[in-house]
Amino acid sequence: MAAKRGKLVFTEDESTKQAYQKYQSLKQEVSNWHQERSSHWLATLVLAQKPPYLPIMDLPEDAIIELWQRLNTAAGAQISDAEAREYWKQFKDGQTTMNPELLSRLHLAQSGVAQLAANQAKAQGVPAIGLRYIASDDPTTSYICPVCDEVSTLAILSKPNGHRIMHCTSCGFEWTVRRAGCLYCGSEDAKQQTYLKNEEFPGIEMAVCQACGHYLKEIDARKLIVLDYMWEDLKTLPLNFAAEFWLKEHAKNHDQIH
Ligand SMILES: [Zn+2]
Ligand SMILES: [Zn+2]
Repeated sequence: MAAKRGKLVFTEDESTKQAYQKYQSLKQEVSNWHQERSSHWLATLVLAQKPPYLPIMDLPEDAIIELWQRLNTAAGAQISDAEAREYWKQFKDGQTTMNPELLSRLHLAQSGVAQLAANQAKAQGVPAIGLRYIASDDPTTSYICPVCDEVSTLAILSKPNGHRIMHCTSCGFEWTVRRAGCLYCGSEDAKQQTYLKNEEFPGIEMAVCQACGHYLKEIDARKLIVLDYMWEDLKTLPLNFAAEFWLKEHAKNHDQIH
């Protein structure tokens, strides 16, 4: 039996649009930093022999702070280097008192530095397979990035055959995974998998798994040309919220029926 299909319902609000604009100007700043500083920092990055090649929390602190401070300055929200280092330390210890804006710029800075690691991994020709995880030995079911060790929830159905490729929104590395079933729990039961979409986002489907409650955003590159997947993922965050809502509602109905 084929997986079910359904429709997501939501409304996009003005604040999402403003968030895109802010992101775009910060992303430009990251790209300027790449042009000016990547050769300097690339010389300091050391990749491990096997995955994860360079976990995001092991990236050089100085590079992250340098880029973060550029983003803070671009946003008109400068902090001192001493403050930045203190916040970074707290963040690494898992406790942060940063405001959400400062934190989102930190994530962008981490990602900007992680992209250098991914580029280096690609230049070294590391295999395009995900990091194996405990539940499975099959690397074609892995949703964990072999470069930065982050979980990915974004897949691309590539041209021309619709092969499924995971895309890490932290570092941009990509690896091939199998086309069917849930990567998060391994369920191959088509009845548990539902594909949800909304006409405002053509070419994108949310593959939700009722067996484990996880979802995966699938962008069909045969229908939609995407230049920046991190941007596309952020721009379509309402789909994530709608998928979470859908899962919650269906879990409720399921509880009522049984
Ligand atoms: Zn990654
Ligand atoms: Zn699942």
